[in-house]
Amino acid sequence: MIKRLLAFSLLMAGCSQGEQSAGMQTSSGESAGNFVAAAPLKLYTFDCGNIEVSDFDAFSSSGDYAGQVGRLTNTCYLIRHPAGDLIWDLGLPHGLVGSAPQVDGIFTVSLESSLTDLLAEIDLTVTDIDFMSVSHSHFDHTGQASLFPDVKWLVHQNELEHMFSTEESKAQNAAFAGLNKTTFSDNHDVFGDGSVVILEMPGHTPGHTVLQINLPESGPILLTGDLYHRTESRELQRVPRFNTDESETRVSMAAFERLATELGARVIIQHEPTDVAALPQSPAFLQ
Ligand SMILES: [Zn+2]
Repeated sequence: MIKRLLAFSLLMAGCSQGEQSAGMQTSSGESAGNFVAAAPLKLYTFDCGNIEVSDFDAFSSSGDYAGQVGRLTNTCYLIRHPAGDLIWDLGLPHGLVGSAPQVDGIFTVSLESSLTDLLAEIDLTVTDIDFMSVSHSHFDHTGQASLFPDVKWLVHQNELEHMFSTEESKAQNAAFAGLNKTTFSDNHDVFGDGSVVILEMPGHTPGHTVLQINLPESGPILLTGDLYHRTESRELQRVPRFNTDESETRVSMAAFERLATELGARVIIQHEPTDVAALPQSPAFLQ
């Protein structure tokens, strides 16, 4: 518990820093006083697959989703910063491109374009990408890791250990094994200026993280990873049955909501079609 409280206070400290940084910037991108000129930070949203769910029961330990049918979007994001480009989440496996939808239990998954193709639409290649981080290591967030052999992987220490804890998980995460990486605990300020911060929000998995982006014009944005999967999951504080730790998830949800309120942040639930539809889709972007 003490560790959690400490982590939370550090999180809040990191976030007020980020908010301040965003506040220094004018909408025209000019610097104020002696501050360094505002970073032309950009957020691109990529369609990284579609997931039809035949029964949402697994997504609520309360049992109230039983029998519900629906759709989850699957999204990846590119954050362009003067100091480098960061990919957040790696979508469904690129091997799905060009094939019929695949059924796996309650999920039917499909993918139209790989990240290679999506980056090409904005004149980038996979080798242009400097940093990569995934909210967590589930299959729908890690599927295209092998496209980025030269990237620097930013990973929470607890997720790293989780990913390589068994022979089965080692095999599933083989594409990550040889990557150059930076590990962290608590939070990680990607570019050192508070503009893009990875925040630990464990419970879905041991090292699950969310991403805070302070855009100069659009303001603070929080990408939820899988802290929530649907709008109602956030409203009702529902925890999936398959999370590694329900009580830890609830602590993360409370921390997340306090932060979202404090920042006045726009919250994007990455699997929620309504939230994703409201974002400009690449090649358009937010800034
Ligand atoms: Zn997911």
